[in-house]
Amino acid sequence: MKAEKYIKPPLGLIPRQAHDYQRIQDIKEAMIRYINAHMDIPTEWLEEWGEFMRKYPNADFQLFKVKVNKIKHCNICNKEDENLNELILDGTDDIYDLDVCDKCYDLYSSDYFSPEKIDNLFNGE
Ligand SMILES: [Zn+2]
Repeated sequence: MKAEKYIKPPLGLIPRQAHDYQRIQDIKEAMIRYINAHMDIPTEWLEEWGEFMRKYPNADFQLFKVKVNKIKHCNICNKEDENLNELILDGTDDIYDLDVCDKCYDLYSSDYFSPEKIDNLFNGE
């Protein structure tokens, strides 16, 4: 921290992609409501939907997700576990948002790990 007085910057703008992803979600929910009411989906929505599909091929455009009983694994020790805990670790370049077993949660949820140590943990060192 510098000695100069910190001046809080003014409120910025939501990144365009985040805004678009929210819009995709909104269109999706509206389409599902129309489908459930047996109503035709307005052409404008479908056109906008198609534009987003071209712009963001990796976004989630599935209208109906099939629930699959997937076996979950701890992101650290790889143990099979149904009840995983969310653990967020702060590395030097990345924030690791993990699902971990109780044991790993106890081990790594403390603040005693430096960002370098956390990076090493995920680079297998
Ligand atoms: Zn574990």
